[in-house]
Amino acid sequence: MYIIFLGAPGAGKGTQAAYVAQKLNLVHIASGDLLRQAIEQGTELGMQARSYMEKGVLVPDPISIPMVLERISAPECEPGVIFDGFPRNLQQAEALDKALAQQAKAIDKVVYIKVCEEELIKRLSGRWICRNCQMPYHTINSPPKVWGKCDKCGGELYQRPDDTAEAVKKRLEVYFAQTAPLIDYYSQAGKLLEIDGEGGVDEVGKRIVAALHGERICS
Ligand code: ADP
Ligand code: ZN
Repeated sequence: MYIIFLGAPGAGKGTQAAYVAQKLNLVHIASGDLLRQAIEQGTELGMQARSYMEKGVLVPDPISIPMVLERISAPECEPGVIFDGFPRNLQQAEALDKALAQQAKAIDKVVYIKVCEEELIKRLSGRWICRNCQMPYHTINSPPKVWGKCDKCGGELYQRPDDTAEAVKKRLEVYFAQTAPLIDYYSQAGKLLEIDGEGGVDEVGKRIVAALHGERICS
């Protein structure tokens, strides 16, 4: 089973992908988290990726594509994967289709979480993330029980360097120019499930589960 979560920065992909991955027993692969880990560990890949991420532009395909394809070839990914943040342009989508086809596999469904631009900006500017488990929080919409601490693991919450106003604007521009065309790509392939992403985390989660249930993917 291979499911992609598609949507703008701030659409709630990370939160919902983690939830559905747990529910379906799939491995959650977030390309942004892989890149941030590489930066934290000071690897060659991390050093190459850092300046792009801080500006809010895409890390070049020769870095991101092999990174994700290598990750999905691990034995633990055998039952299937939820992709979060990948693919982000047509070249990445084609590379993923090709790599899966070589193993007689394919993307099953694409969950597209739709949120209007005004709401995206509001969400991104109040976002805090757990340094330990990457769980996202929001100062207004979903504050942690204890300020500065993760409800799930007690980890320290921090604001991402690319959640500054300038980088947020750039990330949204990049999304509309490079990632949004994937909506058509997967819609033409008959794989797109469009979900209204406005409303609370649980509400949106229920919509996604209902849509996957309709496809007989989720009970
Ligand atoms: P968001 O979707 O909220 O912007 P992510 O953590 O998914 O957050 O991505 C953060 C940054 O990491 C992106 O702005 C980009 O620089 C880089 N990145 C993540 N995934 C990819 C990818 N598939 N291709 C290229 N760059 C990526
Ligand atoms: Zn945590």
